[in-house]
Amino acid sequence: MDYQTITQFPSIRALIVDPTSINQNLFCLICQELVVDPKECSQCQNLFCSECITSWLQRGKTCPYNCSNQMQLKNPHRIVREAISQIQIRCQNQGCDEKMLLQNLDSHLLQCQYVITKCPFIDCNFMNHLKQIKIHQQTCQHRTETCMKCETVHGINQQHDCVERLCNKLKQQEQNFLAYQQKTDQAIKDLTTRIIQLENLQKRLNKPKCYKGHELLWIYPKKGIQCESCKQTDDNVRYICEPCQIGYCQKCKIPEFKGDYCPANHQMQFNQKPSKGLKCDFCRTNIYNKGDTAYSDRQCNFDICNTCFLKFR
Ligand SMILES: [Zn+2]
Ligand SMILES: [Zn+2]
Ligand SMILES: [Zn+2]
Ligand SMILES: [Zn+2]
Ligand SMILES: [Zn+2]
Ligand SMILES: [Zn+2]
Ligand SMILES: [Zn+2]
Ligand SMILES: [Zn+2]
Repeated sequence: MDYQTITQFPSIRALIVDPTSINQNLFCLICQELVVDPKECSQCQNLFCSECITSWLQRGKTCPYNCSNQMQLKNPHRIVREAISQIQIRCQNQGCDEKMLLQNLDSHLLQCQYVITKCPFIDCNFMNHLKQIKIHQQTCQHRTETCMKCETVHGINQQHDCVERLCNKLKQQEQNFLAYQQKTDQAIKDLTTRIIQLENLQKRLNKPKCYKGHELLWIYPKKGIQCESCKQTDDNVRYICEPCQIGYCQKCKIPEFKGDYCPANHQMQFNQKPSKGLKCDFCRTNIYNKGDTAYSDRQCNFDICNTCFLKFR
């Protein structure tokens, strides 16, 4: 169980078991406490907390003991640090009679049973020593328990309906599953789109060739020529092979355009109002309806709808 504890930071000086045994030079002149992370004045050899002397020196350059020259700091001898860590202190928590070395205080506080603690049950404001809280929480009237049948956490005197809770849980699970499924479907869709885009890109990088490997010639669209691949004559032929005297329809050899350029490297222009009868040379949909825009190259009679242009450019 996680406990919420209240730790105070009292003066370490007040916790020292035998104050008379401590060398007074181990106290900082600025904060009057045992020096923390000590620094030493190189002239008078007095010790200060690193933090205290740093903020002191932001206001002046001289040692708090008025040494003559500009103050130089150095790290004190190892023996000084050891002397500090060997000081015997009492635990700061009331009721605890533990005595320890200063260096062990932090680890003791993590497990001290006398640290002031709040009852772990949310609705209860009872505070006491951790030791007392552990006893109190057994009988705390705000304590909760977990139902063995439906795993509902409920107040000790509260009734609940196991079936209803389980139904709600099931509903939640179904919703989670549905959301997960939708997310997966979307991811698959996105990936598929990306793959198609890459495939098209690849196609455009390979110059189209006839089945014998001749590079094809891009021409002004011609109707009525039989396509070497699908044997149809009803679509435009845009690529021909001169040595073989054959042509390919637009479905079988997709026009390659790169950036804003047609396959013959003419720059395409934005076409605000495509004229009647125009079709996209990629997706073959009509692009002369109200609101349609396109990119066009009149020299090759080459038109790409806005959607294809953005997708494939
Ligand atoms: Zn200090
Ligand atoms: Zn000094
Ligand atoms: Zn303690
Ligand atoms: Zn309580
Ligand atoms: Zn239950
Ligand atoms: Zn064809
Ligand atoms: Zn299109
Ligand atoms: Zn062109």
